[in-house]
Amino acid sequence: MDLPQNNETTFSRDHVNSLVTVLDLLRSQEGYTRPDLVRVSKLGRTAIAQRVSELIDRGLVEDGDLGPSTGGRAGRQLRFRAEAGHLLVAFIGASSVSVGLVDLRGKLLARYEEPCDIAGGPDRTLDRLDFLLGQLLADRPDDPPVAVWGVGIGLPGPVEFASGRPVAPPIMPGWDGYPVRDRLAARYRVPVWVDNEVNTMAFGELRAGRGRGERDLVYLKIGTGIGSGLISRGRLHRGAQGCAGDLGHVAAVDGASVICRCGNLGCLEALAGGDALARDGQRAAEDGRSRHLAEVAARGNRITAADVGEAAQHGDPFSVELLARCGRLVGEALATVVNIFNPSLILVGGGVAKAGEPLLAAIRETVYRRSLPLATRDLRITRSSLGDTAGLIGAAFMVIDELFSRRHLELWIDDGSPVGHPEIGAAAFGTPPVESRMTPAALAAHAR
Ligand SMILES: [Zn+2]
Repeated sequence: MDLPQNNETTFSRDHVNSLVTVLDLLRSQEGYTRPDLVRVSKLGRTAIAQRVSELIDRGLVEDGDLGPSTGGRAGRQLRFRAEAGHLLVAFIGASSVSVGLVDLRGKLLARYEEPCDIAGGPDRTLDRLDFLLGQLLADRPDDPPVAVWGVGIGLPGPVEFASGRPVAPPIMPGWDGYPVRDRLAARYRVPVWVDNEVNTMAFGELRAGRGRGERDLVYLKIGTGIGSGLISRGRLHRGAQGCAGDLGHVAAVDGASVICRCGNLGCLEALAGGDALARDGQRAAEDGRSRHLAEVAARGNRITAADVGEAAQHGDPFSVELLARCGRLVGEALATVVNIFNPSLILVGGGVAKAGEPLLAAIRETVYRRSLPLATRDLRITRSSLGDTAGLIGAAFMVIDELFSRRHLELWIDDGSPVGHPEIGAAAFGTPPVESRMTPAALAAHAR
């Protein structure tokens, strides 16, 4: 019988687990010494000395200053070398694309944003994305050198996380089943992860924003559309198909017969999203219900959701009431989420969320009035803290956490970096082949 080749550099499970433990500690906090690691990890002095030395050899950790002496000999403070690798991240919304370069601690080093129409299809959008990412890299100084270790992308529709393919996204014609992950992995020859945009925003807030330390939180995005990201017990809840939290397409309580871009009647987003605000604001400018918006329109501009927000800030009664109505509709839907999901924190972000207090106040008031008292006893509803960067930072942490996970670290640590390992993150690892779950139409499209 042929036994598998026992490569002498292949690590045992225990070995990988202890490396991950040490890296997790050093990534989470500066200033640990070797004795600190022994105490916190319970791994034993020899094991810690060996793992740290391995990580130093691989350039992931370095010795720093002497730590404070606690009676005995002071140890060197260890430092995770966040600059050892870089990640390219992108956040594609319905109408804009942002790209960023981050270090291994999720720190944004460079960022660029421009308008983009996702309905232009995957080839055009991803060609442009390639160009923008290339620009980011070209603009970096050569010293210290940039080494791209991974790519993370957020897309404005449901994404099957295991395969990195959009699944029947309502506002992304041509993207259904498109192999976004495979395309980028082939281009950059590094591991790539793709997720829904609101999930990346929720994850960014969890790891680097106002959601830090929370276990059960809801991130609500009110932009052109409406969506939510659910964090359950400190992890993203994606659901069976990756569309958990798609709040924009639940039926709004007032049941108005407005047709949504998804084709259904009376969706929340069709009544309370940014497009809905712009539409109602435009009407009010035309029929004289809002003097303020009429003045904006008289300058030859079509009314946007931002105009409504600005008019409300100037005290325009129509715009204040429109935002309050939007907040009440969103609040009604959110109250259902609160009763079912029982989060401790709701963070509100997205372009329309910048509109100001009338919106947030109406959301808060409605959720507290409509939810179970026990569910709202310790519930806070507040604005997201990372603003426009939440999605990029979340995409970065998505990649970082995957790269340094038990499942993936062993696949690259021996080489010192995940460069040249585009297969990491592919569906092949423990998940069934994606084709078996694709719709016949998507299968036919791929056969072509
Ligand atoms: Zn809809």
